[in-house]
Amino acid sequence: MSKVENEKVVTLSYTLFDPSGRELERSAEDQPLVYLHGAKNIVPGLEKELTGKEAGDEFQAVVSPEQGYGPKRGLKPVRVPRSSFEKDAKLEAGMAFMTRGPQGQPMPLWIKKVQGPTVVCSVEHPFAGVELHFRGKVVDVRDAAAEEIEHGHAHGPDGHGHDH
Ligand code: ZN
Repeated sequence: MSKVENEKVVTLSYTLFDPSGRELERSAEDQPLVYLHGAKNIVPGLEKELTGKEAGDEFQAVVSPEQGYGPKRGLKPVRVPRSSFEKDAKLEAGMAFMTRGPQGQPMPLWIKKVQGPTVVCSVEHPFAGVELHFRGKVVDVRDAAAEEIEHGHAHGPDGHGHDH
């Protein structure tokens, strides 16, 4: 049976809690997380914890912010006009979207709240500064295709689902 290591595509079901036991996130029942191991698709602390596991193994991992989404830096929120989103876009707290930074580099923003014509966003991941408590199960481990390794991410069962 193959083990989780670099250049493997891993399927996971998981639930993520904060230190007080509050659920932050979980993989969908019918749609587990599929990622390419060793390609920084998931937080480094979880990747480290999963290395060497096999399909069927359950796991628990406590990941420090440094090995997770980084420390909280207290950066100022960014205000984005509602009009810069598609008209019928559903905007909810916690949702992420990509924008361009000052040098034109891709930069993620997370919605904090919608205030009338303004969408207040954070440049910090909502889980920055949070110790992450993961519980889950390795569902599948397979060899990555050459194309997946080249792209640095896993592709779905139908092959390529995107255009980069
Ligand atoms: Zn790809």
